[in-house]
Amino acid sequence: MSTIGDNNDQRGGDSEKITSNKEECTSCEQNEVNNITEDIDSMSVSDMSTCANCGKEGNSDDMNICNRCKEVKYCNATCKKKHRSKHKKKCDRRVAEQHDEQLFKEIEPDECPICMLPMPLDASDSLIGSCCGKRICNGCRFAMFMSEEKDLCAFCRTPPPIRDEEIIKRLKEIMNKGNGDGFFQLAGYYARGIMGLPQDWVKSNELLLKAGELGCTEAYCNLGNSYRNASGVERDVKKAIYYWELAAMGGHVDARYNLGLEELKKGNIHRAFKHFIIGARAGYKDSLDIIKEGFMQGDVTKDEYASTLRAYQKRQNEIKSDERNQAKAAYSHIDALTQGR
Ligand SMILES: [Zn+2]
Ligand SMILES: [Zn+2]
Ligand SMILES: [Zn+2]
Ligand SMILES: [Zn+2]
Repeated sequence: MSTIGDNNDQRGGDSEKITSNKEECTSCEQNEVNNITEDIDSMSVSDMSTCANCGKEGNSDDMNICNRCKEVKYCNATCKKKHRSKHKKKCDRRVAEQHDEQLFKEIEPDECPICMLPMPLDASDSLIGSCCGKRICNGCRFAMFMSEEKDLCAFCRTPPPIRDEEIIKRLKEIMNKGNGDGFFQLAGYYARGIMGLPQDWVKSNELLLKAGELGCTEAYCNLGNSYRNASGVERDVKKAIYYWELAAMGGHVDARYNLGLEELKKGNIHRAFKHFIIGARAGYKDSLDIIKEGFMQGDVTKDEYASTLRAYQKRQNEIKSDERNQAKAAYSHIDALTQGR
């Protein structure tokens, strides 16, 4: 699932606007008024703070702040240095808490830029167009295919590429524009050695990292898998967890499921089920199954199970559409349609 791009852009086919829709008017007066008001607000919020070492009061904006937890303030660098050993334990705890706050946050799902429904969780139920770099759900692709415009891209109306080289060329163009999904797609071709490219895990992992940095959570999940499976890198579970966490924080449910399993292995039942519950609430079936088991074994309460099940069903209903159902039935027969274009 991609977090980049402009999923709120409903103007299918308006490719001119693709890169500019996030800009807001910088000249209108209302914006200036808002900016000034925000400035004033932030000034009054910051005002005075106390140095954690010597207790002297100072203006927050001028004070030295702990680089790690970003919460403790000092009147100068000397005070900060003096306080370091005393603050370390509390600082470590706060950093861990801040990390968990990020990690266990529920994320709104990405939407298909055409039908605006939450994206299906299975990556094979949507496809990234090499033309515009948009991930489109199979329901919208199928609806387009059944229309008179047949095999044009459902988003930008570009005809499909015919040859493998053309696909690669197009991908490189969207990659040059900073499209993380483009890097992700190319990484997949190297991982499988298809589209006239050699099989190359090292190259694939490099592309996954770049894709992840550009906001493609699926890329971070796959990079984590590479570290777990020793594909092109030495096996390193710590690094696998690091990348799965980045993916999960971006809303990736497979990655979160893997994190849950790792916590189970360590015996951290509570943390494990926190992951599974978030995943199941986002509509992930494997997570729901494990919660069901957890409920029967007493690791999950009845209320937790019931509310998770309700959220799961609600999300499942949101993801469903007639077009997507039709696509599922049709695409299981028409393999060519699901090949990367
Ligand atoms: Zn001080
Ligand atoms: Zn600190
Ligand atoms: Zn759609
Ligand atoms: Zn397109």
